[in-house]
Amino acid sequence: MTLADLDFNESAIITKIKGRSTFRKRVTEMGFVRGKKIKAIKAAPLKDPIEYSILGYNVSLRQKEAQLIDVVSEREVSEDILDLQKVGSSVEDILRRKAITKSKTIHIALIGNPNAGKTSFFNFASHSQEHVGNYSGVTVDAKATKFKHKGYTIKLTDLPGTYSLTAYSPEELYVRRHIMNEMPDVIINIVDASNLERNLYLTTQLMDMDVKMVMALNMFDELKKNGHQLDFLSLGKMLGMPIVPTVSSKGQGIKNVLDRVIEVFEDRSPHQRFVRINYGTNIIEGIQAISKTLCKYPAIETKIAPRFVAIKILENDPDIYAELEKYGINKEDIARFEEIKDTVYKRIGSEITSYIADSRYGYIAGALKETLKKSPVQRRKFTDKIDNILTHKFWGFPIFLFFMWVMFQATFSLGQYPMDWIDQSVAWFSNFIANNMPDGMLKDLLVDGVIGGVGGVIVFLPNILILFFFISVMEDTGYMARAAFLMDKIMHKFGLHGKSFIPLVMGFGCNVPAIMATRTLENRKDRLLTMLINPFMSCSARLPVYLVIIGAFFPTNQGLILFGIYFTGIMVAALMALIFKNTLFKGKEAPFVMELPPYRTPTIRSGLHHMWFKAKEYLKKMGGVILVASILLWALGYFPQKPSGIEKFDKQISELKKQKKSFKQEFKTIGQQLDFEEDFQNKIHEIELEKTIYQQENSYIGKIGQAVAPVMQPLGFDWKMSISILTGLAAKEVVVSTMGVLYQIKNGDENTVSLIQKLRNEKYKTGSKAGQPVFDKIIALAFIIFVLIYFPCVATITAIKRESGSWKWAAFTAFYTTTLAYFLAFVVNNVG
Ligand code: GDP
Ligand code: MG
Repeated sequence: MTLADLDFNESAIITKIKGRSTFRKRVTEMGFVRGKKIKAIKAAPLKDPIEYSILGYNVSLRQKEAQLIDVVSEREVSEDILDLQKVGSSVEDILRRKAITKSKTIHIALIGNPNAGKTSFFNFASHSQEHVGNYSGVTVDAKATKFKHKGYTIKLTDLPGTYSLTAYSPEELYVRRHIMNEMPDVIINIVDASNLERNLYLTTQLMDMDVKMVMALNMFDELKKNGHQLDFLSLGKMLGMPIVPTVSSKGQGIKNVLDRVIEVFEDRSPHQRFVRINYGTNIIEGIQAISKTLCKYPAIETKIAPRFVAIKILENDPDIYAELEKYGINKEDIARFEEIKDTVYKRIGSEITSYIADSRYGYIAGALKETLKKSPVQRRKFTDKIDNILTHKFWGFPIFLFFMWVMFQATFSLGQYPMDWIDQSVAWFSNFIANNMPDGMLKDLLVDGVIGGVGGVIVFLPNILILFFFISVMEDTGYMARAAFLMDKIMHKFGLHGKSFIPLVMGFGCNVPAIMATRTLENRKDRLLTMLINPFMSCSARLPVYLVIIGAFFPTNQGLILFGIYFTGIMVAALMALIFKNTLFKGKEAPFVMELPPYRTPTIRSGLHHMWFKAKEYLKKMGGVILVASILLWALGYFPQKPSGIEKFDKQISELKKQKKSFKQEFKTIGQQLDFEEDFQNKIHEIELEKTIYQQENSYIGKIGQAVAPVMQPLGFDWKMSISILTGLAAKEVVVSTMGVLYQIKNGDENTVSLIQKLRNEKYKTGSKAGQPVFDKIIALAFIIFVLIYFPCVATITAIKRESGSWKWAAFTAFYTTTLAYFLAFVVNNVG
């Protein structure tokens, strides 16, 4: 009986906890442990939830949860009591004895492909004589048997053979329902070792179900005969289950399998863990979205893994909704699932089912690449051939570096042309507005605020698209996975994994999707570590800052310097990884599979789709954060329009005009007159410039900047740089747009060039440094370093919060990056 069947005030002893591992873990932590005595206290109306007393305190469980906990109650043993009390045992003793035998009963299901040797295993284990045949479909129904092994009663069920757990054949459906409804304690996955790729496919599906599992690597004799070598211990560690070689037709290894089953059943196995197969970010997002809704249904959450159900929904499984109806799933949620499926389909641009299947085969290929040494005769497959070159011990790296070089080169040089076009269009547009609008605040707002800010950033759209195009091509072809495979060894030196490599490379594009891509890492510590260092991968939004500053102060070797900046970021990341690994994230590493998906020709559709998606994101940012920030900045700099003391400039101008009138008559020649006129205009212009500067320094933004400036003083930054850094918290593109607004790009000039000129000419107006240039190479460098390292951006921090599940890590990232940036910029400025 189960806990839910207990009468009130009735005591019982817990014998088994069923359901999936997350559920088991949770209730175990609540105190529901095997062998513990428990008593039903009272129930809420409708008997749900029910309250129990255990270990001296009260806890409540939902009825659906209580049904998953097996118990022996006093009532149950009362008949034995009549017998045994004569011999002098107490009720308590009998209850305990009964509980022990009951809790030592293990339900096992044999699952595997047809002809993998399940029935042979079944017969040998139980000494029975079921019919064994070398063709599919021999076992059409489940057969069960019972026997003893090492003091445990084993109930073994032989199930029909299946290649998969989709619902396309009755056998598949049968096996799936058996797992979901009968909930065997442990599954023995019988795998035909002579045909691993195909057999492990079913294994990957079983892994999604989050069940306890032992793998019997059957036909091990065949494997050896073919001359292959398999490191099954490592394979087991990667897949998170014990693997035992067997020859079940001869009964070899079967006892060993049963020993492992007992270990797994008792949660004593060192190999048992829940491994999530990586289906790629888009699918994972789909799975998570669906799982979240599924968690509303407690029975699904505790009995079947929401992850498995979510995958089945995405795979368009014909039976899954019928199955879910039993759990009372409602129409709106089903509609929602269909929507999510649609979104995922649009994102990946191909059939979800085949995409997931490809990921599974990629997972298997990766696992076998590291563990299976095939005999030389059989190795010559197309993918293998390419892999032999791309992941070659020596050639792999130069090839990889070459691809990286091509990517960055293309980003910068190819991007130059469209960048120039956009730049010119922005300049033209700015001119057009300046010449065709009446003077006034609105015009100033449009020209200096909106176009100055947004225009200064939009020019970098092409670079960013090209970068993203390359990243998406690398992902789609399957090369990214090879690169990760290649990098694995080096990454280990810094306490990272090859798998962290993909999020890190994506970080060059944008840190937000990169942080999301850390989901593909199985281990939470690895995920956190990768998240924490990801911001040092200089994202494309920082690129404009570098381009402007390098353009202004480093006339030679610009490409090299740019590479140096990216490299610095990588070094800082590696160093921080090393530090964190030895402080925050100490601990042993679990091995895992590096997937090697099949090579695929990337479709143009998918590439363009990615680009369009990114372009949309970027433009949205333009229309949102950057626009608002630009306008706000402009307004803060524009007001107050007439700070006290500004009249003196107007006076100077009117003075000059008066003088001009009295001088004018004295010129004889036209030439003289023109010279004078030019001279006069220059003077007026100078005074007007001084007036603007005066106004700006006394504006709100000037006041804020001067308040912040002392903090930034040790780094050599002036107040305008400080403000740019401050606004860069919103998004890194805003750093340049802020500079564009603050250092005043006047209409008509070419945008970036004029900002570069402005920066070069910028001098301190007041204070002890009056007259000295604001920038020199050292300060420019310190500024670049600061921008490279400090607080990534609000979106990234939010992403870290979302992925790590707590504000703690987000806040930590914000804090430590900024401190580090300050420190390094300080060092650069003072040593330089
Ligand atoms: P099932 O379909 O999974 O139940 O597989 P069976 O138990 O019916 O076995 C299929 C065939 O494989 C039979 O001819 C068995 O004798 C043979 N067989 C099973 N296990 C082994 C093994 O470990 N090595 C070899 N060489 N043959 C095996
Ligand atoms: Mg069979």
